[in-house]
Amino acid sequence: MAGLPYIVGNWKMNGTRAMLNEVRAIDRAAARFPKVQVAVAPPATLIYRTRDAADIIGVGGQDCHARESGAFTGDIAAPMLKDAGADFTIVGHSERRTLHGESDADVQAKAEAAFGAGLAVIVCVGETEAERDAGRAEAVVAAQLEGSCPKVEGAPEKLSVAYEPVWAIGTGRVPSVEDVAAMHKSIREKLVAIYGEGGADVRILYGGSVKADNAAELLSVPEVGGALVGGASLNAESFLAIVGAA
Ligand code: PGA
Repeated sequence: MAGLPYIVGNWKMNGTRAMLNEVRAIDRAAARFPKVQVAVAPPATLIYRTRDAADIIGVGGQDCHARESGAFTGDIAAPMLKDAGADFTIVGHSERRTLHGESDADVQAKAEAAFGAGLAVIVCVGETEAERDAGRAEAVVAAQLEGSCPKVEGAPEKLSVAYEPVWAIGTGRVPSVEDVAAMHKSIREKLVAIYGEGGADVRILYGGSVKADNAAELLSVPEVGGALVGGASLNAESFLAIVGAA
């Protein structure tokens, strides 16, 4: 498995300049955890200031447009994220897929645009509860990976995949350790099928109701290379407890 454990905070549509105090606290504390790679994805309005307020942690976007510029009111292009100081971007979060109707092809185009702009990428995948109940979770996730992973030269080294079961996001429910292990193993196999040997380098994160009290257990599962944290990343103390658990 590639690299250090990677703990990423996804702030979603939360945060004003007051959150920069949390950023400073996270950044100061991250220095105490040199064996963990820490990053936050604030709303786009805060990327520039977050980069300014932090020395150590990574800073990322939560989404980007597939095109470099143009008549796309309200959208943000990958080169703009890069210019604002982002190192990476999340693409294909289930909230984007569901609420903005993004298809696998859209997510793939965004991931490729992000690579083109020099950003690392976190591609999110995950099944709904109905799909899991129907025994289709692994097939659904494999199809999402096939359709959404960037197919560009050198992709695996700068790619992370976040497995986020839709039913676990923001609900306080998490899959069993056995189910996480089985899914991450299946994701690894699919990444190797897509990228060949390079597929072994892609970091696979778990996301969905990761908290201080379940982080150590989830992060000890084979093939879990880190966590994508929503709600618990909005406060430095709870986020740092997860970083500490890694
Ligand atoms: P949550 O969100 O930690 O609040 O469940 C995770 C995510 O959506 O990335």
